[in-house]
Amino acid sequence: MSTPRKRAFSTRSIHSGEPVDPSTQAVEPSLVLSTNFVFDPDTAGFSAETLDDKTPNVYARWSTPTVRALEVKLADLEDAEDALCFASGMGAISALLLGTLRGGDHLVLSDVCYAGVAELARNTLPGFGIEVTTANFSDLDAVAAAIRPNTKLLWAETPCNPILRLTDIAAVAEIAHTAGALLGVDSTMATPVATKPLSLGADLVAHSLTKYLNGHGDALGGVILGGRERLSKLRQGALIHFGGALSPFNAWLIRRGLHTLELRMKAHQENALCVAAYLESHPAIKRVIYPGLPSHPQYELAKRQMHNMSGMLTFQTKEDGVEVARRFYRKLQVFTYAVSLGKQRSLLFYIPTEELLKSSFSLEGAALESYRDFAGDGIFRVSIGLEALEDLCADLDQALS
Ligand SMILES: *Cc1c(COP(=O)(O)O)cnc(C)c1O
Repeated sequence: MSTPRKRAFSTRSIHSGEPVDPSTQAVEPSLVLSTNFVFDPDTAGFSAETLDDKTPNVYARWSTPTVRALEVKLADLEDAEDALCFASGMGAISALLLGTLRGGDHLVLSDVCYAGVAELARNTLPGFGIEVTTANFSDLDAVAAAIRPNTKLLWAETPCNPILRLTDIAAVAEIAHTAGALLGVDSTMATPVATKPLSLGADLVAHSLTKYLNGHGDALGGVILGGRERLSKLRQGALIHFGGALSPFNAWLIRRGLHTLELRMKAHQENALCVAAYLESHPAIKRVIYPGLPSHPQYELAKRQMHNMSGMLTFQTKEDGVEVARRFYRKLQVFTYAVSLGKQRSLLFYIPTEELLKSSFSLEGAALESYRDFAGDGIFRVSIGLEALEDLCADLDQALS
Protein backbone atom coordinates (compact mmCIF):
# COMPACT_ATOMS: atom_id res chain seq x y z
CA MET A 1 0.00 0.00 0.00
CA SER A 2 1.28 3.46 -0.80
CA THR A 3 1.41 5.96 2.05
CA PRO A 4 -1.31 8.60 1.75
CA ARG A 5 -0.20 12.00 0.49
CA LYS A 6 0.33 14.42 3.37
CA ARG A 7 -2.32 17.12 3.26
CA ALA A 8 -1.39 20.78 2.98
CA PHE A 9 -0.99 23.00 6.05
CA SER A 10 -4.38 24.78 5.90
CA THR A 11 -6.27 21.53 5.41
CA ARG A 12 -4.51 20.03 8.42
CA SER A 13 -5.07 23.15 10.50
CA ILE A 14 -8.82 22.70 9.95
CA HIS A 15 -9.25 18.91 9.99
CA SER A 16 -6.48 17.48 12.15
CA GLY A 17 -7.68 16.30 15.58
CA GLU A 18 -11.28 17.18 14.70
CA PRO A 19 -13.14 14.25 13.16
CA VAL A 20 -16.93 14.42 13.24
CA ASP A 21 -17.99 13.34 16.75
CA PRO A 22 -19.31 9.76 16.40
CA SER A 23 -21.43 10.02 19.56
CA THR A 24 -23.29 13.21 18.60
CA GLN A 25 -22.67 13.56 14.84
CA ALA A 26 -21.69 17.17 15.61
CA VAL A 27 -19.55 18.53 12.80
CA GLU A 28 -17.66 20.89 15.08
CA PRO A 29 -16.20 19.40 18.26
CA SER A 30 -18.01 19.66 21.58
CA LEU A 31 -16.27 21.37 24.47
CA VAL A 32 -15.65 18.80 27.22
CA LEU A 33 -15.36 20.51 30.61
CA SER A 34 -15.56 17.44 32.84
CA THR A 35 -12.72 17.23 35.37
CA ASN A 36 -12.85 13.44 35.67
CA PHE A 37 -13.52 10.44 33.46
CA VAL A 38 -14.74 6.88 33.97
CA PHE A 39 -11.93 4.36 33.70
CA ASP A 40 -11.53 0.61 33.68
CA PRO A 41 -9.68 -0.45 36.86
CA ASP A 42 -7.82 -3.05 34.81
CA THR A 43 -6.28 -0.48 32.47
CA ALA A 44 -5.52 2.56 34.65
CA GLY A 45 -4.39 3.25 38.17
CA PHE A 46 -4.51 6.09 40.60
CA SER A 47 -1.04 7.39 39.79
CA ALA A 48 -0.04 9.43 36.76
CA GLU A 49 2.83 7.00 36.35
CA THR A 50 0.38 4.39 35.07
CA LEU A 51 -0.92 6.75 32.38
CA ASP A 52 -0.95 5.21 28.91
CA ASP A 53 -2.62 5.55 25.53
CA LYS A 54 -5.45 3.18 26.41
CA THR A 55 -6.81 5.48 29.11
CA PRO A 56 -5.72 8.96 28.10
CA ASN A 57 -8.34 10.72 30.21
CA VAL A 58 -8.54 10.04 33.93
CA TYR A 59 -8.40 13.45 35.55
CA ALA A 60 -8.47 16.78 33.69
CA ARG A 61 -5.06 17.93 34.92
CA TRP A 62 -3.59 14.89 33.17
CA SER A 63 -5.47 15.28 29.88
CA THR A 64 -8.93 16.01 28.49
CA PRO A 65 -10.43 15.17 25.08
CA THR A 66 -10.59 18.87 24.13
CA VAL A 67 -6.98 19.62 25.08
CA ARG A 68 -5.77 16.34 23.55
CA ALA A 69 -7.47 17.18 20.23
CA LEU A 70 -5.56 20.48 20.20
CA GLU A 71 -2.29 18.66 20.95
CA VAL A 72 -2.90 16.31 18.01
CA LYS A 73 -3.51 19.29 15.71
CA LEU A 74 -0.47 21.21 16.96
CA ALA A 75 1.83 18.19 16.57
CA ASP A 76 0.57 17.73 13.02
CA LEU A 77 1.16 21.40 12.12
CA GLU A 78 4.68 21.42 13.59
CA ASP A 79 5.60 18.00 12.05
CA ALA A 80 6.30 16.82 15.60
CA GLU A 81 5.73 13.37 17.10
CA ASP A 82 3.77 14.83 19.98
CA ALA A 83 2.65 18.00 21.73
CA LEU A 84 1.96 18.92 25.33
CA CYS A 85 -0.23 21.91 26.21
CA PHE A 86 0.02 24.20 29.22
CA ALA A 87 -1.94 27.07 30.74
CA SER A 88 0.39 29.68 29.21
CA GLY A 89 3.58 30.04 27.21
CA MET A 90 5.52 30.60 30.43
CA GLY A 91 3.83 27.52 31.91
CA ALA A 92 5.15 25.51 28.95
CA ILE A 93 8.68 26.95 29.00
CA SER A 94 9.13 26.79 32.78
CA ALA A 95 7.91 23.17 32.75
CA LEU A 96 10.33 22.39 29.94
CA LEU A 97 13.29 23.97 31.73
CA LEU A 98 12.53 22.50 35.16
CA GLY A 99 11.53 19.16 33.66
CA THR A 100 14.69 18.85 31.55
CA LEU A 101 17.40 20.37 33.75
CA ARG A 102 18.72 19.03 37.08
CA GLY A 103 21.02 20.51 39.72
CA GLY A 104 24.54 20.53 38.29
CA ASP A 105 23.32 20.97 34.68
CA HIS A 106 24.22 24.00 32.60
CA LEU A 107 21.86 25.98 30.36
CA VAL A 108 22.99 28.27 27.52
CA LEU A 109 20.31 30.86 26.90
CA SER A 110 19.90 33.53 24.23
CA ASP A 111 20.98 36.80 25.88
CA VAL A 112 17.94 38.50 24.39
CA CYS A 113 14.70 36.55 24.69
CA TYR A 114 11.22 36.80 26.14
CA ALA A 115 11.71 38.79 29.36
CA GLY A 116 9.86 36.23 31.50
CA VAL A 117 12.24 33.48 30.35
CA ALA A 118 15.31 35.68 30.90
CA GLU A 119 14.16 36.54 34.42
CA LEU A 120 13.23 32.93 35.26
CA ALA A 121 16.64 31.73 34.11
CA ARG A 122 18.54 34.41 35.97
CA ASN A 123 16.55 34.60 39.20
CA THR A 124 15.07 31.14 39.74
CA LEU A 125 17.08 28.39 38.02
CA PRO A 126 20.35 29.02 39.94
CA GLY A 127 18.42 28.39 43.17
CA PHE A 128 17.94 24.81 41.95
CA GLY A 129 21.66 24.43 41.29
CA ILE A 130 21.25 24.95 37.54
CA GLU A 131 24.04 27.04 35.99
CA VAL A 132 23.02 29.56 33.35
CA THR A 133 25.17 31.33 30.74
CA THR A 134 23.74 33.78 28.23
CA ALA A 135 25.11 34.25 24.72
CA ASN A 136 24.27 36.18 21.59
CA PHE A 137 22.63 33.44 19.52
CA SER A 138 23.21 35.26 16.24
CA ASP A 139 26.95 34.77 16.86
CA LEU A 140 27.80 31.08 16.45
CA ASP A 141 31.27 31.49 17.97
CA ALA A 142 29.74 33.05 21.08
CA VAL A 143 27.30 30.13 21.40
CA ALA A 144 30.09 27.56 20.99
CA ALA A 145 32.27 29.41 23.52
CA ALA A 146 29.46 29.27 26.12
CA ILE A 147 29.32 25.45 26.07
CA ARG A 148 30.67 23.61 29.14
CA PRO A 149 31.10 19.90 29.86
CA ASN A 150 27.83 19.92 31.83
CA THR A 151 25.79 21.82 29.22
CA LYS A 152 22.50 20.01 28.87
CA LEU A 153 20.30 22.46 26.96
CA LEU A 154 20.61 25.43 24.60
CA TRP A 155 17.57 27.71 24.49
CA ALA A 156 17.08 29.90 21.42
CA GLU A 157 14.30 32.27 20.40
CA THR A 158 13.97 33.31 16.77
CA PRO A 159 13.01 35.97 15.87
CA CYS A 160 13.82 37.06 19.42
CA ASN A 161 11.68 39.38 21.45
CA PRO A 162 11.84 42.36 21.31
CA ILE A 163 14.61 43.14 18.80
CA LEU A 164 13.81 40.55 16.08
CA ARG A 165 17.33 39.22 15.84
CA LEU A 166 17.45 35.75 14.26
CA THR A 167 19.18 32.50 15.17
CA ASP A 168 20.39 30.05 12.55
CA ILE A 169 18.61 27.00 13.99
CA ALA A 170 20.45 24.34 11.93
CA ALA A 171 23.86 25.78 12.85
CA VAL A 172 23.06 26.06 16.57
CA ALA A 173 21.56 22.53 16.56
CA GLU A 174 24.89 21.25 15.29
CA ILE A 175 26.77 23.04 18.08
CA ALA A 176 24.34 21.62 20.66
CA HIS A 177 24.52 18.05 19.37
CA THR A 178 28.32 18.08 19.06
CA ALA A 179 28.35 18.97 22.76
CA GLY A 180 25.83 16.23 23.58
CA ALA A 181 23.24 18.84 24.53
CA LEU A 182 19.67 19.45 23.40
CA LEU A 183 18.43 22.48 21.48
CA GLY A 184 15.08 24.03 22.37
CA VAL A 185 13.56 26.86 20.32
CA ASP A 186 10.88 29.36 21.29
CA SER A 187 9.18 29.74 17.91
CA THR A 188 6.29 31.95 19.05
CA MET A 189 7.10 34.84 16.73
CA ALA A 190 7.72 32.65 13.69
CA THR A 191 4.84 30.13 14.02
CA PRO A 192 4.93 26.81 12.14
CA VAL A 193 3.79 28.65 9.01
CA ALA A 194 7.22 30.30 8.87
CA THR A 195 9.66 27.85 10.43
CA LYS A 196 9.74 24.23 11.58
CA PRO A 197 12.64 24.13 14.08
CA LEU A 198 12.39 20.35 14.57
CA SER A 199 13.04 19.74 10.88
CA LEU A 200 16.11 22.01 11.18
CA GLY A 201 17.55 19.89 13.98
CA ALA A 202 16.01 21.31 17.17
CA ASP A 203 14.94 18.75 19.79
CA LEU A 204 12.14 20.74 21.41
CA VAL A 205 9.94 23.64 20.33
CA ALA A 206 7.76 25.89 22.46
CA HIS A 207 5.05 28.36 21.51
CA SER A 208 3.00 30.81 23.46
CA LEU A 209 -0.41 29.80 22.05
CA THR A 210 -1.61 33.16 23.36
CA LYS A 211 -0.06 34.88 20.36
CA TYR A 212 -0.41 34.00 16.64
CA LEU A 213 -1.62 30.43 17.11
CA ASN A 214 -4.80 31.52 18.86
CA GLY A 215 -4.55 34.82 17.06
CA HIS A 216 -7.50 36.64 18.62
CA GLY A 217 -6.13 37.81 21.96
CA ASP A 218 -8.71 36.00 24.08
CA ALA A 219 -6.99 32.90 25.49
CA LEU A 220 -3.71 32.18 27.27
CA GLY A 221 -1.98 28.92 26.40
CA GLY A 222 1.37 27.31 25.71
CA VAL A 223 2.75 24.17 24.08
CA ILE A 224 5.91 22.09 23.95
CA LEU A 225 6.52 19.92 20.89
CA GLY A 226 9.08 17.20 20.21
CA GLY A 227 9.72 13.46 20.38
CA ARG A 228 7.05 11.21 21.91
CA GLU A 229 9.23 9.71 24.64
CA ARG A 230 10.62 13.02 25.86
CA LEU A 231 7.14 14.58 25.95
CA SER A 232 5.66 11.61 27.74
CA LYS A 233 8.22 12.12 30.54
CA LEU A 234 7.42 15.84 30.61
CA ARG A 235 3.69 15.08 30.79
CA GLN A 236 4.19 13.09 33.98
CA GLY A 237 6.90 15.15 35.63
CA ALA A 238 6.21 18.67 34.48
CA LEU A 239 2.56 18.90 33.46
CA ILE A 240 0.70 16.60 35.80
CA HIS A 241 2.80 17.30 38.89
CA PHE A 242 3.53 21.01 38.37
CA GLY A 243 -0.12 21.31 37.43
CA GLY A 244 -0.12 24.05 34.79
CA ALA A 245 -2.79 22.37 32.66
CA LEU A 246 -4.50 24.23 29.82
CA SER A 247 -8.20 24.89 30.36
CA PRO A 248 -10.41 23.01 27.87
CA PHE A 249 -12.25 26.23 27.07
CA ASN A 250 -9.01 27.93 26.06
CA ALA A 251 -8.01 24.84 24.07
CA TRP A 252 -11.33 25.02 22.25
CA LEU A 253 -10.79 28.71 21.37
CA ILE A 254 -7.18 28.12 20.28
CA ARG A 255 -8.28 25.20 18.07
CA ARG A 256 -10.73 27.57 16.41
CA GLY A 257 -8.07 30.22 15.92
CA LEU A 258 -5.75 27.68 14.29
CA HIS A 259 -8.21 27.08 11.45
CA THR A 260 -7.19 30.40 9.92
CA LEU A 261 -3.50 30.44 10.96
CA GLU A 262 -2.00 30.24 7.48
CA LEU A 263 -4.44 32.81 6.06
CA ARG A 264 -3.81 35.15 8.96
CA MET A 265 -0.03 34.82 8.75
CA LYS A 266 -0.14 35.71 5.05
CA ALA A 267 -2.16 38.81 5.86
CA HIS A 268 0.05 39.74 8.85
CA GLN A 269 3.11 39.43 6.63
CA GLU A 270 1.62 41.44 3.79
CA ASN A 271 0.54 44.27 6.11
CA ALA A 272 3.80 44.24 8.08
CA LEU A 273 5.97 44.42 4.98
CA CYS A 274 4.04 47.45 3.70
CA VAL A 275 4.00 49.23 7.08
CA ALA A 276 7.74 48.51 7.49
CA ALA A 277 8.48 49.97 4.05
CA TYR A 278 6.23 52.96 4.79
CA LEU A 279 8.01 53.64 8.10
CA GLU A 280 11.45 53.15 6.57
CA SER A 281 10.76 56.00 4.14
CA HIS A 282 9.09 58.27 6.75
CA PRO A 283 11.15 61.36 7.68
CA ALA A 284 10.39 61.00 11.42
CA ILE A 285 11.78 57.44 11.58
CA LYS A 286 15.42 56.61 12.21
CA ARG A 287 15.42 52.86 11.75
CA VAL A 288 13.07 49.95 11.09
CA ILE A 289 13.81 46.31 11.81
CA TYR A 290 11.69 43.74 10.02
CA PRO A 291 13.01 40.36 8.84
CA GLY A 292 11.24 40.82 5.49
CA LEU A 293 13.12 44.05 4.67
CA PRO A 294 16.45 43.82 2.82
CA SER A 295 17.80 46.25 5.47
CA HIS A 296 17.46 43.59 8.22
CA PRO A 297 21.06 42.61 9.10
CA GLN A 298 20.15 38.92 8.71
CA TYR A 299 17.90 39.21 5.65
CA GLU A 300 19.61 36.26 3.91
CA LEU A 301 19.03 34.01 6.93
CA ALA A 302 15.44 35.26 7.17
CA LYS A 303 14.79 34.27 3.53
CA ARG A 304 16.36 30.85 4.10
CA GLN A 305 14.71 30.04 7.44
CA MET A 306 11.38 31.90 7.44
CA HIS A 307 8.72 31.02 4.90
CA ASN A 308 6.63 33.83 6.31
CA MET A 309 8.17 36.97 7.81
CA SER A 310 5.46 37.30 10.47
CA GLY A 311 3.86 40.55 11.61
CA MET A 312 6.39 41.84 14.14
CA LEU A 313 8.56 44.88 13.53
CA THR A 314 10.40 47.46 15.58
CA PHE A 315 11.29 51.05 14.83
CA GLN A 316 13.14 53.96 16.32
CA THR A 317 12.13 57.59 15.98
CA LYS A 318 14.45 60.56 15.46
CA GLU A 319 12.59 62.45 18.20
CA ASP A 320 12.92 61.23 21.81
CA GLY A 321 11.00 57.93 22.06
CA VAL A 322 9.35 58.78 25.39
CA GLU A 323 7.74 61.88 23.88
CA VAL A 324 6.58 59.97 20.82
CA ALA A 325 5.20 57.22 23.06
CA ARG A 326 3.05 59.76 24.95
CA ARG A 327 1.75 61.15 21.66
CA PHE A 328 1.03 57.67 20.31
CA TYR A 329 -0.90 56.76 23.46
CA ARG A 330 -3.06 59.90 23.02
CA LYS A 331 -3.47 59.96 19.28
CA LEU A 332 -3.45 56.45 17.86
CA GLN A 333 -6.93 55.18 17.01
CA VAL A 334 -6.41 52.00 15.00
CA PHE A 335 -3.25 50.86 16.79
CA THR A 336 -3.68 50.05 20.49
CA TYR A 337 -0.93 51.07 22.92
CA ALA A 338 -0.55 47.69 24.65
CA VAL A 339 1.77 44.75 25.18
CA SER A 340 1.38 41.27 23.69
CA LEU A 341 1.37 40.36 20.02
CA GLY A 342 0.03 38.15 17.29
CA LYS A 343 -3.63 39.10 17.32
CA GLN A 344 -6.10 40.65 14.90
CA ARG A 345 -5.66 44.16 16.32
CA SER A 346 -2.45 46.09 15.73
CA LEU A 347 -0.51 46.74 18.92
CA LEU A 348 2.40 48.98 19.70
CA PHE A 349 4.40 50.07 22.72
CA TYR A 350 7.67 51.71 23.61
CA ILE A 351 10.60 49.90 25.21
CA PRO A 352 13.21 52.19 26.75
CA THR A 353 16.39 50.21 26.14
CA GLU A 354 18.14 51.25 29.36
CA GLU A 355 15.35 49.91 31.52
CA LEU A 356 15.08 46.60 29.69
CA LEU A 357 18.81 45.99 29.65
CA LYS A 358 19.07 46.53 33.38
CA SER A 359 15.95 44.65 34.46
CA SER A 360 15.28 41.70 32.20
CA PHE A 361 18.53 41.04 30.41
CA SER A 362 21.25 42.61 32.61
CA LEU A 363 23.55 42.87 29.59
CA GLU A 364 27.07 44.19 30.00
CA GLY A 365 30.21 44.66 27.94
CA ALA A 366 30.28 43.11 24.46
CA ALA A 367 26.74 41.72 24.77
CA LEU A 368 25.44 45.21 25.54
CA GLU A 369 27.35 46.69 22.61
CA SER A 370 25.98 44.08 20.23
CA TYR A 371 22.43 44.71 21.47
CA ARG A 372 22.85 48.46 20.91
CA ASP A 373 24.41 47.88 17.50
CA PHE A 374 21.53 45.74 16.42
CA ALA A 375 18.54 47.47 17.96
CA GLY A 376 19.66 50.98 18.84
CA ASP A 377 18.31 52.78 21.89
CA GLY A 378 14.62 53.01 22.67
CA ILE A 379 12.47 51.01 20.30
CA PHE A 380 8.80 50.73 19.50
CA ARG A 381 7.71 47.12 19.24
CA VAL A 382 4.84 46.69 16.83
CA SER A 383 2.55 43.75 16.21
CA ILE A 384 0.85 44.40 12.89
CA GLY A 385 -2.74 43.16 12.89
CA LEU A 386 -5.26 42.38 10.21
CA GLU A 387 -6.83 45.82 9.74
CA ALA A 388 -6.77 47.40 6.27
CA LEU A 389 -3.31 48.63 5.35
CA GLU A 390 -4.45 52.14 4.42
CA ASP A 391 -5.99 52.61 7.88
CA LEU A 392 -2.80 51.44 9.61
CA CYS A 393 -0.61 53.83 7.63
CA ALA A 394 -3.06 56.73 8.00
CA ASP A 395 -3.18 56.17 11.77
CA LEU A 396 0.63 56.19 12.09
CA ASP A 397 0.82 59.20 9.80
CA GLN A 398 -1.54 61.36 11.90
CA ALA A 399 0.16 60.30 15.15
CA LEU A 400 3.70 60.89 13.87
CA SER A 401 2.97 64.39 12.59
C1 LIG B 1 4.31 35.83 25.07
C2 LIG B 1 5.54 35.05 24.89
C3 LIG B 1 5.91 34.07 25.82
C4 LIG B 1 5.10 33.79 27.06
O1 LIG B 1 3.81 33.33 26.76
P1 LIG B 1 2.54 33.56 27.72
O2 LIG B 1 1.45 32.84 27.01
O3 LIG B 1 2.34 35.03 27.85
O4 LIG B 1 2.89 32.96 29.04
C5 LIG B 1 7.07 33.36 25.59
N1 LIG B 1 7.84 33.61 24.51
C6 LIG B 1 7.54 34.54 23.61
C7 LIG B 1 8.42 34.78 22.45
C8 LIG B 1 6.37 35.30 23.77
O5 LIG B 1 6.07 36.26 22.88
